[in-house]
Amino acid sequence: MIDFKTLKSTARIEDLARLFGGVPDRRGMCRCVLHDDKTPSMKIDAEKQLFYCFGCGAGGDIITLAQLHEGLSAPEAARFIDCALGLGLDRDISDAERRDTMLRAKKRHYWEMLKRDEEAEKQKRLYSELCGEMHRLREAMNAEPPNDKKAELAEKLNRVEYLINLIEINCFGGENNDR
Ligand SMILES: [Zn+2]
Repeated sequence: MIDFKTLKSTARIEDLARLFGGVPDRRGMCRCVLHDDKTPSMKIDAEKQLFYCFGCGAGGDIITLAQLHEGLSAPEAARFIDCALGLGLDRDISDAERRDTMLRAKKRHYWEMLKRDEEAEKQKRLYSELCGEMHRLREAMNAEPPNDKKAELAEKLNRVEYLINLIEINCFGGENNDR
């Protein structure tokens, strides 16, 4: 049985968040690892060793994070953290259990990161297609088309700009200045 206090002073919550596929930025914000999060809503406080999600409202310490993510009781979560982060605190845990737990956690981690990469790639491709379309529509507008054609172009342009905006908010967290 692991002493929670020892565990909490040894394990780093940001390491566990990373293992679960969260990538905290400089301010500790990352996409929530507990709900399907499109924008970074989860704050990982490395100083206080706490987390809080502004999207789903989940929060707590490293043990709570492991409990919620893995669906475990607090003692089971402590055991999981000890193994998955390779801390080696609990001497009662066998090497085989340590290896298995770590391997399973790592596999899921890579799967999670892969899914996020693919999703980001898709969004980037769509984004550049939409930007190309936006430039074409703007050029067509500048060529002073007849009024009925102009209204149609304006409507299309509106829709494209709206979609571009959505992707910018989701992927870049706001305005993208490279556009
Ligand atoms: Zn959340």
